[in-house]
Amino acid sequence: MSVIDSDKLINNLLGWYQKSGRILPWREDPTPYHVWVSEIMLQQTRVEAVKGYYARFLAAFPDVRSLADADEEILLKIWEGLGYYNRARNMQKAARMVMESYGGVIPSEYEELLKLSGIGEYTAAAIASIAYGKSQAVVDGNVLRVMTRILADSTDISLLPFRRQLASMLNEMLRTYLQPQEVGMFNQAMMDLGATVCTPNGMPKCEQCPVRECCKAYEEEHVLSYPVKAKAKARKIVEMTVMLIRNGDYYVITKRKPQGLLAGMYEFPNVDFYLNEKQCVDYVTNLGFYPLRIEALPSAVHIFTHKEWHMKAYEVRVADLKAIDVRKELILATGEMMRSDYAIPSAFGAYLQMIM
Ligand code: SF4
Repeated sequence: MSVIDSDKLINNLLGWYQKSGRILPWREDPTPYHVWVSEIMLQQTRVEAVKGYYARFLAAFPDVRSLADADEEILLKIWEGLGYYNRARNMQKAARMVMESYGGVIPSEYEELLKLSGIGEYTAAAIASIAYGKSQAVVDGNVLRVMTRILADSTDISLLPFRRQLASMLNEMLRTYLQPQEVGMFNQAMMDLGATVCTPNGMPKCEQCPVRECCKAYEEEHVLSYPVKAKAKARKIVEMTVMLIRNGDYYVITKRKPQGLLAGMYEFPNVDFYLNEKQCVDYVTNLGFYPLRIEALPSAVHIFTHKEWHMKAYEVRVADLKAIDVRKELILATGEMMRSDYAIPSAFGAYLQMIM
């Protein structure tokens, strides 16, 4: 890894952050709990989208104890729309661990934080540095992009040893040059630089960049050559048929299995293959309903990290739902009830929206 002018990098970055850093709700009072909640929400979700969820979450669960004691259904309902529901479940597990093993106080040491459910290296470093002033660098996609450009380093950023090496170089820099109260600021400045200036898509805004004097990629006029990343494996495509089984304002929903993708959430009946109209009518009949009319709905796609759902859908009007002896796992709900009482993952958002 090449050598950089740490002094200049830090001074320029911190000076810029104080003038141009983003004003974000979780930065107003960066307690360990606030940093933790915001960082978990920010995984895979845009900052603007997180703001509303963050406020609602804190209103419902203002501290570790209230999160530990929360009813899981209510927790998932509040999380609804953010996706990746295991993040919420893991937060609750971690909150319970904090109550049981740490006297209700989120630990300050990086290694202790890593023991908590759902807290990985990035989140542990964010909590330790921003809330406790520990010299622990955050290393995520933004930081990797900024740093590989500054260093003009073409190592594959998906390699764990490289990420560890970069983290230890940054940790050393934080330990050597920064006071505890500046460490969190440095990390947040790196996050902001990657999000607003040294951006991932298209040309970064090098003319506005506070660290361009330290940036080798800029000097060599090769900023788009970094970061280098091995091609990700193609996502698995799942062809699905979703059924909106309806009578009046009531629809049939069902609860997913307690393990696996979207565990314990609610969904419309569906199968992992495409059905034509006749097959769909047969399927609904086999569920114990009496179909009256079927109508094809627009198809929809939902992308997860490792798979894509390609959904075709039908609305199937059936004779009086309540008169039918529905199996226990089938639930009848109106759109309003789905919104207030049942956590339906955003993967089905297109169909939920049609109902609403
Ligand atoms: Fe990124 Fe350009 Fe700044 Fe280098 S000069 S860190 S490439 S924005």
